[in-house]
Amino acid sequence: MGGYVPIIDVGEEFFALTYLRQFHRIQNRDILTSTIQSEETVATKPKKTAPLLAIVGRPNVGKSTLFNRIVGRRRALVGDEPGITRDRLYGEAEWNSHLFRVVDTGGIVPDDPDLIPSEIYRQARVALDEAACIVMVVDSRTNIASPDMELARLLAKSGKPVLLAVNKIDDPKLEHSAQEFRRLGIKSVHFISAEHGLNIAELLEDAISRMPAIMAKTLAEEQAEPEKEPETRATRMTFEAKIAIIGRPNVGKSTLLNRLTGTDRAIVSPIAGTTRDAVDEVVVKDGKRYRIIDTAGIRRKGKTKLMAEKLSVVMARKHLEEADVALLIIDATEGVTALDATIGGYAHESGRSVIIVVNKWDLVGGQRTDGKPPADRLIYEEQVRHTLKFLDYAPMQFISAESGKNAVKLFPLIEHVAAERVKRIPTGAMNKFISQVDFEKAGVPYNKRLKIKFITQAATAPPTFMLFTDRNVKLHFSYERFLHNQLRAAFGFEGTPIWIKTRHKNK
Ligand code: GDP
Ligand code: GDP
Repeated sequence: MGGYVPIIDVGEEFFALTYLRQFHRIQNRDILTSTIQSEETVATKPKKTAPLLAIVGRPNVGKSTLFNRIVGRRRALVGDEPGITRDRLYGEAEWNSHLFRVVDTGGIVPDDPDLIPSEIYRQARVALDEAACIVMVVDSRTNIASPDMELARLLAKSGKPVLLAVNKIDDPKLEHSAQEFRRLGIKSVHFISAEHGLNIAELLEDAISRMPAIMAKTLAEEQAEPEKEPETRATRMTFEAKIAIIGRPNVGKSTLLNRLTGTDRAIVSPIAGTTRDAVDEVVVKDGKRYRIIDTAGIRRKGKTKLMAEKLSVVMARKHLEEADVALLIIDATEGVTALDATIGGYAHESGRSVIIVVNKWDLVGGQRTDGKPPADRLIYEEQVRHTLKFLDYAPMQFISAESGKNAVKLFPLIEHVAAERVKRIPTGAMNKFISQVDFEKAGVPYNKRLKIKFITQAATAPPTFMLFTDRNVKLHFSYERFLHNQLRAAFGFEGTPIWIKTRHKNK
């Protein structure tokens, strides 16, 4: 690694010389140049409001591990522009709703000041100058060295808040011997393991307390809604539907995603998941927010047909976990396949609301151009319903994601089913309901009959009802189906499954 000359005296000020890690590891000038250029882009771009946390330290102390730990997959968002290495350096992160940016300055390890291109030097300064808080990382397994002392001194002179992260404390027992790093004179010391994620929370808490607070929501809105009519707090609070777009390969999920997020007057803001490695997009339409879950996942495609199919199921299950409403996409040219039914089955079991979206209707309906007679929508719907019987509660919408025809109708439909799923029926109405339902009509064999003493709605999303019965026997499926139908006839609950639980009541 050669000797350290970490400081250059420039007038009255000291500056760290930051070598970008690529310079050391790859020794390739082209890459280095492009790194600098892309970094330049960041530096000269209109300033984002999120404060910058700079990670500094010698090579191999674990800076990039810490960077990755803090930033997670978010940096993919930042690095979406051409320029291969920018994403390694700058990232965005969110902690307890505080938004900030992170820069990994690379190693501060100049060998020979004469060899240091002034450009690198300048860029290093940009990062530190711009930083709202600096984390100096040291490796607890090495001894404190003079360059560390010098770096610490110089950081102190910057006048910025400086935290010391003593890294690679994989076991709390190691903390004791690492106390020597306090000699660096940095007051705020955190013993962390970047690799194992230990004490990172405390470190970030500390860092955040020293930076200007930018709340995630505020920034997202600022960036997302520059020309929009002001949205009132009330509308923002009242509605946000989380939507999973699910379906087998090639049914048009990505096309629909593009269509929905590109809708006229809709505002799209990429908001990265904080705990998941996913990117959501929020469409704001008529003051209502529609969050489409993991848009990166929707665009992900398997390489082989089999892989693609497996992936579509995995993705569907994953996306359902986060969602309120699932758009189950069916390819109109192919009708409902076994895989559609499988994916629909997961949606049903997960308790999410479902809208069946028959896509590519342009190829089958009235506008079809292949000379064949257009399909009748009602008959088509009947066929779909026949195969997807268990989704009898799901509204169906025929669209063309490609031309956009009727796609916009999905928004009010989503809003409607999202509202239905959280509806709560007051006990009074429930009692009235049960007194009027004639269970004789349920067609249950005599020995399976029981009396329903009363019924309450125990939960919403999905609506869950608790039945108290006079006999300790399992509810016969005819009762259950009958009850479902009666509940829907009385209260709607369009789009959402209804769950029924029974409890035997003595006396
Ligand atoms: P950088 O050069 O400062 O960016 O360091 P890296 O992040 O590349 O890490 C250098 C080496 O230290 C890598 O092999 C990491 O896996 C390892 N490392 C990073 N953090 C830890 C840690 O908390 N514990 C241990 N045992 N190793 C770590
Ligand atoms: P995904 O795998 O489900 O994401 O499907 P894609 O969105 O990639 O679409 C698969 C193919 O179907 C692409 O060639 C699309 O152009 C096409 N496609 C999607 N929606 C429609 C539609 O509404 N009409 C027609 N004609 N083609 C469509």
